[in-house]
Amino acid sequence: MIVAIDGPAGVGKSTVAKLLASKLRFLYLDTGSLYRAVAWAVIRNRIDPADADAVSAILPGLSVQMRFENGTAVVEVNRQDISNELRTPEVSAAASVVSAIPAVRAWLFPLQREIGLQGSVVAEGRDMGTHIFPEAEVKFFLEADPMVRADRRHRELVAAGHSRQIEQTALDISTRDGRDRSRAVAPLVPADDAHHIDTSAMSAAEVVEHMMAVVTAKL
Ligand code: C5P
Repeated sequence: MIVAIDGPAGVGKSTVAKLLASKLRFLYLDTGSLYRAVAWAVIRNRIDPADADAVSAILPGLSVQMRFENGTAVVEVNRQDISNELRTPEVSAAASVVSAIPAVRAWLFPLQREIGLQGSVVAEGRDMGTHIFPEAEVKFFLEADPMVRADRRHRELVAAGHSRQIEQTALDISTRDGRDRSRAVAPLVPADDAHHIDTSAMSAAEVVEHMMAVVTAKL
């Protein structure tokens, strides 16, 4: 079974996707990490993330792999474990820029499909229900008030030791969302058959409980 979860940044997708996957004993596929891995390589190679030709040119020499160790994803670029370097504001911003390049999306397509077809999966991203797994049995689209999203992301960054003003975080995520929603290829839009959940006033546990009810009805 494939459960697809899409939505903008800071909406709580990763938290609930991880919890849901562990309750269901499904694999958790965080596709944002794959775009972040490409962005990490782009930064490392001192390439402008907006330079589509230069970014496309490094793809043939790039190997991105995601393995699972005790339910946790380990992301490797050319066999180097970079899992702990993917969640900085710089990588977030570059990921959002490189993800609009059609060659990057096409390059990551088979990798996502391959992981998704390894077994039952909770797949999280921006285009799970619309492009990567249009056949998913259950699709969710999460939304939340922009201030709530900025506040959640801000707390995560502070907890991870980054110093960032909340106003800057709010601006970062609204810039990223604008890009994700307006890009030409696989923009962030809900699938027609997605269940919409507004998480603004819900705890992660409440969202997961709601999702479990929808998923178990399909099992
Ligand atoms: O979900 P996360 O914030 O880790 O994703 C980082 C960036 O990767 C997003 O801002 C988005 O631009 C891109 N992304 C995407 N499609 C996905 C997952 C992530 O375009 N399926």
